[in-house]
Amino acid sequence: MFGLIIPSKFIIIKINYTMKITEQDKIFMREAIKLADASVAKGGGPFGAVIVKDGKVIAGSSNRVTIDNDPTAHAEVNTIRMACKALKTFSLEGCDIYTSCEPCPMCLGAIYWAHIDRIFYGNNRKDAADIDFADNFIYEELDKPMDKRIVPIIPMLRNEALRTFVAWKEKSDKVEY
Ligand code: ZN
Repeated sequence: MFGLIIPSKFIIIKINYTMKITEQDKIFMREAIKLADASVAKGGGPFGAVIVKDGKVIAGSSNRVTIDNDPTAHAEVNTIRMACKALKTFSLEGCDIYTSCEPCPMCLGAIYWAHIDRIFYGNNRKDAADIDFADNFIYEELDKPMDKRIVPIIPMLRNEALRTFVAWKEKSDKVEY
């Protein structure tokens, strides 16, 4: 999460956590669930998501991991890619995501990087675990010290890698994100 600046809007949203779910929110969530249902019928994973801006669905996708042979092709990541393409931007500020299941850590990270305003989810991580999608173990991994994790993570050649960061820091015409 290097360099992630937490915009003040996230703090405002936290205060509004008890915000009411509207009838329109339910319509969008049902769209996400419908995509998940269609995906199951087509042989994909049982997950769907839509991204909404100004009361309109601008992107929607299901999980395409097995269809695309892409382990990152979760519904939320696919939908973020589609929405950014549609809006020609790398920031989805002003957008909400409705996902048929609580985002896994990868998707949650992608949602934060995309600066999406709010996340609505249907099934929770326990429901996912009950059908053998164990996202929870990755959340647990994040809590462990590096040397206790399942996948070894080994720091190396930091001094060489750091040169790129110095070049980035000194570049005056960079596109910051
Ligand atoms: Zn995911």
